[in-house]
Amino acid sequence: MTQILDCEKLKIYYLGHSGFAFHRGAHKIVIDPFLTNAPMARLKPNQISATDILITHGHADHIGDAVEISKNNQAKITAIWEVAQWCKEQGAETLPVPIGVTQLFDWGKAIFRPAVHSGFLPNGKSFGPAAGIILDFGNIKIYHLGDTAINPDLKFVGEFYRPDVALIPIGGRVNLDIDQAVTVAKWLKVKTVVPTHYDLFTQGEINPLNFKQKIEQETDIKCEVMEPISTPI
Ligand SMILES: [Zn+2]
Repeated sequence: MTQILDCEKLKIYYLGHSGFAFHRGAHKIVIDPFLTNAPMARLKPNQISATDILITHGHADHIGDAVEISKNNQAKITAIWEVAQWCKEQGAETLPVPIGVTQLFDWGKAIFRPAVHSGFLPNGKSFGPAAGIILDFGNIKIYHLGDTAINPDLKFVGEFYRPDVALIPIGGRVNLDIDQAVTVAKWLKVKTVVPTHYDLFTQGEINPLNFKQKIEQETDIKCEVMEPISTPI
């Protein structure tokens, strides 16, 4: 298992659960950094440097330590309006965004696609629409699916945005299960998948190697089961 994926001069680090960091040059983009009390995470919030932080939706296992990392690094948090507003109330600098609109950054573009999922912020208010996030670095597109049920937009993303890499939940319960994740990866027409969200709520019953075996038997898609990064980044 690898701790770092090197794709087209983009370094991808797994933080555990749904958390990832993407490094290219001086840009350090972090998504869903859930570290404190997370089953798999090996780093503490003060061991992560970031220039941008993005959050897929307002559940605690995705907001995680985003506010602390934001404050430590003066890094802006980009999220759907309700989530961004909550982070702002905690003292973070934020960029609130709507679903579906292309957002420009100095490292590329981000598009928040609809995910089929719902719930509450830590303050008990609805977190609004949940999202998956397409990161377009110019020569490579990464699709972080967030938490979602299987739905037709995933097919649309495959046809319209053509991502290269999918970071895809396989844990079932609140998310795609392994069989659904294989189907969705086919729809997305990606070259590489990384399974996520199998370490919480599942009592260890979900083995990402079963997903890897199934998808590599049925398709030409390469599956990278990643180990959470253990050195500060
Ligand atoms: Zn989740």
